[in-house]
Amino acid sequence: MSAAPATSPSRSRDGTAASLLNDEERARIRAKSAQFAPPPAALPDGRRDLVGLSREELTDIMVEIGEKPFRTKQLWHWIYHQGATDFSRMSSIARPLQEKLAERFVIGRPGVVTEQTSQDSTRKFLFRFRDGQEAETVYIPDRQEDRGAVCISSQVGCTLSCTFCHTGTQALVRNLGAAEIVGQFMAARDSYGEWPSPKGETPRLLSTIVLMGMGEPLYNYDNVAKAMRIIMDGEGIGLSRRRITLSTSGVVPMMDQCGAELGINLAVSLHAVRDDLRDEIVPLNRKYPIREVIAACRRYPAASNARRITFEYIMLRGINDSEADARELVRLISGIPAKVNLIPFNPWPGSSYRPSTREQLDRFAKIVMDAGFASPIRMPRGRDILAACGQLRTESQRLRRAAGQPDAAPEAEDAGA
Ligand code: SAH
Ligand code: SF4
Repeated sequence: MSAAPATSPSRSRDGTAASLLNDEERARIRAKSAQFAPPPAALPDGRRDLVGLSREELTDIMVEIGEKPFRTKQLWHWIYHQGATDFSRMSSIARPLQEKLAERFVIGRPGVVTEQTSQDSTRKFLFRFRDGQEAETVYIPDRQEDRGAVCISSQVGCTLSCTFCHTGTQALVRNLGAAEIVGQFMAARDSYGEWPSPKGETPRLLSTIVLMGMGEPLYNYDNVAKAMRIIMDGEGIGLSRRRITLSTSGVVPMMDQCGAELGINLAVSLHAVRDDLRDEIVPLNRKYPIREVIAACRRYPAASNARRITFEYIMLRGINDSEADARELVRLISGIPAKVNLIPFNPWPGSSYRPSTREQLDRFAKIVMDAGFASPIRMPRGRDILAACGQLRTESQRLRRAAGQPDAAPEAEDAGA
């Protein structure tokens, strides 16, 4: 009888595919994720929200109320192409059916608690969902052109506690549902009056999505995937997978699944090139070490020279910003179609790191660039309204405590799953 391995398969640093393509581990991650499920998408009066349902679910519901399946196509068009929130606006649907739908359903949006616009035009939304939980969404306009990225949250809080991240100081309250994820984009679009959805390559302000807000999207994969499928559907919002980027701190087994099923762009929060340092600043590294994360990037199916993987690298003064770090970074990612996004650390109340100096940023960027990787420095946007990377955090949990309610979730006892 052979002895049991001392570490779990994913802990092994041998980087073999067998240890990584681990269905059991994916099942475990999803089971844990289900414990933080969002509440049902229904109002107190029993009406159900149609936003966030797949086409199949919408069809089932139509059949349940005695309607023909083709109603799905009509409704989909009104909800996701026209942006209608009121059944009475749906002119291709006869009045009696409009009324029947309005009795049973709503087309919901998250409530807007605050909407702040930065001096640099970045706009931050604080949304409140039906159960009172809150999350932030940021619209970052391009500086030159009439387009921009919507930075969407996937969770309220985060189970991971990266030491430089404000969200990481807020324990995971719960996952956001598909309706709440799609709803962030739709509500942002409401704010810019950008309905109906432009067809094809027509320029639009809200032109890309980055899943880089609060939370770890790959620890809420099912809801994120469902939301992205709705957003990518060509008869509705119709944003192509090339315009969507998911950022992960390195949940290796789910990176494989995301690549295989969604084919959206991948950004990986690397931030350190040695396991001892990454173990400390991105604690998930203890579960999925650098070598495994890089191996998962090498096999990410949607990556190519035209669609490169983004390695995000936060520049922390005196911690991870040396020239030796830059050289090791280049060695680690050699051969991967990649770019390196250097992110100056954005401070938040209570944080102890300092951003790298401009000179050090430039030195680091030059080494990476000379090795053939684009290495843009991500200039902070919306710092004045705490909308920049890593500054998002809500009071959701504190309010629950103040109201004398128990926390929705226990403090994460490990690195997330
Ligand atoms: N959980 C995912 C996505 C959300 S974080 C992830 O970690 O990738 C989005 C990005 O913001 C990550 O690259 C994260 O490392 C970065 N970030 C976090 N805190 C930051 C800070 N204080 N300053 C600058 N970037 C930060
Ligand atoms: Fe969570 Fe990402 Fe912040 Fe880490 S950086 S705590 S994974 S949101």
